[in-house]
Amino acid sequence: MENGPARAEFWKEFISTRCEYPAQSLLRDQLDHAELTEFCDCGCNSFRLRVDPVHAKPLLPPKADPKMGGHGAIYTADFHMPDDKALEIIIFADDRGHLYFVEIDCCANSYPIPEDIVVAERPFATWAAEGVFREPSG
Ligand SMILES: [Zn+2]
Repeated sequence: MENGPARAEFWKEFISTRCEYPAQSLLRDQLDHAELTEFCDCGCNSFRLRVDPVHAKPLLPPKADPKMGGHGAIYTADFHMPDDKALEIIIFADDRGHLYFVEIDCCANSYPIPEDIVVAERPFATWAAEGVFREPSG
């Protein structure tokens, strides 16, 4: 499937249920209040989005000095795929703590994302930036 709105719907669901983000309801809230604005066509499934800052709570506190740029990557989740490949999901936040980009690559974008996504049930590695809001587990 071509990278576009329909494919991004699949990823929004995947990201909010499978990536073990530390505050899944906050992430879901961001995705539910996002307008998807750009879809990369290089073979990855990355997309750019704009979150409504009035209706969605941020994922981490705003930067004290926005001139220093956005938060950059705030979360990654890597999944095993067949043939020793890896699916890599990287979530980026802007200076106000809202999502602005979701990168979805296969092996650091060495391969296109396959049509059918076959991945392990759980990520084999995750990383969260310091300062991201967390929900109490359980
Ligand atoms: Zn791309």
